Amino acid sequence: MEKILLLGFAEAGQTADKQLLEAAAAASKLASDLNTTWDIALAGKEIQTAANSLAGSGAAHFFGVEGDDFESARYASDLLAVEALVKKSEATLVIVPGTSRANRVVSALSARLNGRADTHLTGITVRDGKITVSRWYYRQRMEGAFTRPQRPWILALEPGSIAPAAPSAGTAAVEKITVELPENAKRTKVLGMKTPAGTAQTIRPDAKLLFVAGAGWTKKQADGQSHAADAESIILQFLDKTQASLGSTKSLVDMSGEGNAVLSFMTHLNQVGQTGSTPRHPKGLATCCHGEEPHVVGWRFIKERRAVNVDANCGWARGKADVLYVADAFAVMAKVNELLSK
Ligand SMILES: Cc1cc2nc3c(=O)[nH]c(=O)nc-3n(C[C@H](O)[C@H](O)[C@H](O)COP(=O)(O)OP(=O)(O)OC[C@H]3O[C@@H](n4cnc5c(N)ncnc54)[C@H](O)[C@@H]3O)c2cc1C
Repeated sequence: MEKILLLGFAEAGQTADKQLLEAAAAASKLASDLNTTWDIALAGKEIQTAANSLAGSGAAHFFGVEGDDFESARYASDLLAVEALVKKSEATLVIVPGTSRANRVVSALSARLNGRADTHLTGITVRDGKITVSRWYYRQRMEGAFTRPQRPWILALEPGSIAPAAPSAGTAAVEKITVELPENAKRTKVLGMKTPAGTAQTIRPDAKLLFVAGAGWTKKQADGQSHAADAESIILQFLDKTQASLGSTKSLVDMSGEGNAVLSFMTHLNQVGQTGSTPRHPKGLATCCHGEEPHVVGWRFIKERRAVNVDANCGWARGKADVLYVADAFAVMAKVNELLSK
């Protein structure tokens, strides 16, 4: 009989976040498919608030490690906390929200427990009585499904892959476990957080829209001139008003190295596509963008897709977008900004 554990990190005074609720939905579904129960284990400075928001989730038992030492993501202390929690729960299947904090420790955790860990999973199902997990390979072009005999098996679920469970109110009875940290597990100190300033952040997982800018924004326009400064101001205004995620084509981010007009806030972190990222926003808007990779690979998980291109024959925009506006993106986006301001 499998024993299922949802393992996650909690923020002091905060209810379960979306990633934890997604993993809770996965754990609950797996337990129901296997006709067994499931438990929850949390680590953090204060975990009761998050545990309470999962009190009605259907989990049988709650375990927790808490204290000031577990407030911040730190490999040495996080690892000892999650090891104690998994050992206490005696879980054979451990579902973890695949956040950067959790992904950092899962492989070491599986090594300590003589189990296995898999990350970036997009599905956990039961097929012919076997637990089968899926993930994407080769820059998200191929999906593979597999199973493993080793236990404990730690399954890090890619955020955004499944619908989150509804948070519930209640009081969870949490069994607290004491983890004494040796001095060498406390050497790293988190002094604060620094996030990129402005609106051009590429990673905004909760944004509803991915705005992809292509090289056309910096190319010569109908008047024979390039208008990179106008492009910057139009794009930044749009991002400011919509809080959209900013994506770019490879051509646009490569241009800085080629001495061409550039958008100063674009970096390779913004690049979507085969050699960039494959975001999961519900909607996408590509502007001045022709390339195959941003459209075919970068848009793979974008559900509603629109594009603006002056070229009516732009094959990729036409073939991959639900709606193609054949228009000058400078004029279209300036008008959109004007409408957003009202
Ligand atoms: C191995 C490999 C991996 C690659 N990986 C990636 C990747 O990960 N991501 C990626 O993006 N590319 C990648 N590429 C490059 C890719 O093939 C394309 O070259 C690139 O995406 C093209 O970028 P673009 O569409 O911005 O530029 P262009 O092809 O120059 O297109 C510019 C477009 O802007 C339009 N335009 C110009 N002015 C306006 C205006 N005023 N209004 C509206 N439209 C306008 C033009 O009509 C044109 O369609 C890769 C290539 C290789 C070989």
